[in-house]
Amino acid sequence: MKKALITGNRGQDGAYLSQLLLSKGYEVYGADRAGDSGLWRLRELGIESRVKETYLDILELTNIMDLLEKVRPDEIYNFAAQSFVKMSFEQPILTAEINAVGVTRMLEAIRKVRPAARFYQASTAELFGSTGSAQRNETTAFHPKSPYGVSKLYAHWITVNYREAYGLHASCGIMFNHESPLRGGEFVTRKITMAAARIKKGLQDKVHVGNLAARRDWGYAREYVEAIWRMLQQPKADDYILATGRSHTVREFAAAAFSAAGFKLEWKGRGLAEKGVDARTGRVLVEVSKEFYRPAEVDLLVGDAAKARAKLGWTPVTKFKDLVALMVEADMKRLEIQ
Ligand code: GDP
Repeated sequence: MKKALITGNRGQDGAYLSQLLLSKGYEVYGADRAGDSGLWRLRELGIESRVKETYLDILELTNIMDLLEKVRPDEIYNFAAQSFVKMSFEQPILTAEINAVGVTRMLEAIRKVRPAARFYQASTAELFGSTGSAQRNETTAFHPKSPYGVSKLYAHWITVNYREAYGLHASCGIMFNHESPLRGGEFVTRKITMAAARIKKGLQDKVHVGNLAARRDWGYAREYVEAIWRMLQQPKADDYILATGRSHTVREFAAAAFSAAGFKLEWKGRGLAEKGVDARTGRVLVEVSKEFYRPAEVDLLVGDAAKARAKLGWTPVTKFKDLVALMVEADMKRLEIQ
């Protein structure tokens, strides 16, 4: 039986990957510093009792070394991160400690304690950060636009460096935005799907968002963890873009979400005065608020996953509208259960 250690396993990707590996017969160890909180995702997936939860603080090298000695994992997936772009402007140093130096600690511990283990690092489209319409691939130059992106850039290169310098089987997945019903409510997608469901049920009036014109390449997280697992099954470690190749605006996301909840949104006004209005009643459902704008914005992100398709045999299947609809549906269902 293979053993996997997943840091940040209570997050969206960690939870889906835990489920996938359990279905493949792995013994799955989750590593988190969150105490008892955040187990809701594992609970929803019905795997809470099957994941062996351990304590890990990625800021503490000794913690990591002890855990590797104890668990002796064959595969290590690192999702532990401060993963909010906006918060990284407010906590740039903590973000670097966790996302950048934290990965160095992981790699050092692996090199010393468990060098045969295979390692996955969660890189991100935020490494590119730049605007323009061309799709990003593995050869596009990086130019991150937030402390989060910069911290992840360090993590990306230190992972490549340990692969080249010490021969570790260490791979990075440069993941474009990937969403699901398990996405945290701080991200714009889930924030909107939750709001659409709550507004439909009369529990909320409207939702405030930031830049409606931002475009993202949104895929379905459940499909992305399959590619992550395949990366670690390759004879040689490498880095891969994971993306759908299509982008949509936040405005389009909101329209699709409200449509899935039974509303037809119409857009009125411009800039901060733009509003999403219920076409039937004229009621304002979406408003723009400065609070959700960022000091530096990534206007557009779209990725080219041709390499993952060719080498991993991976293609994302779920279409944008279906993804939005399944998120809204899940949020509606949760409200019914409550
Ligand atoms: P990110 O791509 O990892 O930063 O994921 P987010 O879901 O947090 O943000 C995606 C895009 O939506 C960014 O360009 C944000 O500026 C934009 N956006 C617009 N309104 C909001 C909002 O209310 N919350 C968040 N989180 N993002 C918003």
